[in-house]
Amino acid sequence: MAFSNSRPLLFSAVRGLSASPASYLVRRSWQQRLPKFCSASTLAQAEPEGAQLSAANISIEKTAAPKEKLPPSKLVFGHTFTDHMVQIPWNATDGWLTPKILPYQNLSLDPATCVFHYAFECFEGMKAYKDSKGSVRLFRPDKNMDRMNRTAARICLPTFDHEAFIKIIAELVKLDSDWIPSERGYSLYIRPTLIGTQASLGVGPPQSALLYVIMSPVGPYYPTGFKAVKLEATDYAIRAWPKGVGDRKLGANYAPAILPQQMAASRGYQQNLWLFGDEGYITEVGTMNMFLVFKQPDGKLELVTAPLDGTILEGVTRDSILGLARERFDKDKWVISERKATIREVADHATAGTLVEAFGSGTAAVVSPIKEISWRDQPISVPLQPGKETGPVAEQMAKWIAEIQYGEVEHPWSVLLE
Ligand SMILES: *Cc1c(COP(=O)(O)O)cnc(C)c1O
Repeated sequence: MAFSNSRPLLFSAVRGLSASPASYLVRRSWQQRLPKFCSASTLAQAEPEGAQLSAANISIEKTAAPKEKLPPSKLVFGHTFTDHMVQIPWNATDGWLTPKILPYQNLSLDPATCVFHYAFECFEGMKAYKDSKGSVRLFRPDKNMDRMNRTAARICLPTFDHEAFIKIIAELVKLDSDWIPSERGYSLYIRPTLIGTQASLGVGPPQSALLYVIMSPVGPYYPTGFKAVKLEATDYAIRAWPKGVGDRKLGANYAPAILPQQMAASRGYQQNLWLFGDEGYITEVGTMNMFLVFKQPDGKLELVTAPLDGTILEGVTRDSILGLARERFDKDKWVISERKATIREVADHATAGTLVEAFGSGTAAVVSPIKEISWRDQPISVPLQPGKETGPVAEQMAKWIAEIQYGEVEHPWSVLLE
């Protein structure tokens, strides 16, 4: 693997970390498959031009043996997959090759393939919903595509055109739309995945890759109503750090978080509340973003979530909750803050009776209410509504977001598939 090739790529990907998403959008049209923010000269040196990703010549091979579908009530998250998948190969010489929709199948890869050794892998998690008229809708897919491109660029995997990939995913969803249960609360979880496929052990930018998409029908996260969780505030392990890659949806970020989760579980806590630094900044909860509600001295309520400082995954649900709160909450009563908050601050609010609510946010559950946080072996109790396993903000956000996802309220975030 040529180092002369890998250096400019890494340099430009790292430089890109400090630049804004907006400038990325401006530039991506001429720079689909390279780390963002390459200068034009780096771009020319780094890799030859190849074909852009296009939905125009997509080939479709339908399965000869459709699988039997489980009754919706038997679905377990991520266990059942639909009949078809998308595969789009890429290589450094030709660029993106023709997208294929194929029967769901095993991949066959050389044991030396770089994804197995150096974790050249990134993914997305998004959902398709069936509305009451039977039409299929995606929720803010542009956000997922933007995030996937920025993640891919960080590990020298090829980037791609958003609209083309959304069109290709839409073809797959339409072909397998029978797999989306029509009952409210059900959906189709979509897992776009990008892996480096170069079969060699040299450490460098992969010269070939595979973008694929698999899909799994899923049931409601809370079939019998919300279930609030208990967290262990975790400072003996760190999920993400400044200038690291915790803001990217890399497979490599997830495996190291399982052991701390098992340790928390062995003490009776479902998830880790990831802290950072001597200050004990609250970053995320498990694989979700974290929200807190405090009552301020002037009587106003403050909705708080961590700022996007590079240690936080930029959740689409997080962004949606912030957007809805800013738009729909009473401005005389609410302050919406993206700021750092410490576990000490949460404990002090609990003692003073001004800790109002806490919940996590993510695509799988939308919101996950929290009822207790253990910190240094002391429980911090989080209020819930009487007779319910959720606070009012989590409940309200779950309702508003589901109304948009299921097309009950028309909103630009819900993209209807033609
Ligand atoms: C995916 C993910 C989230 C949530 O993102 P959504 O886009 O809302 O699903 C939050 N934190 C981590 C670490 C994640 O991987």
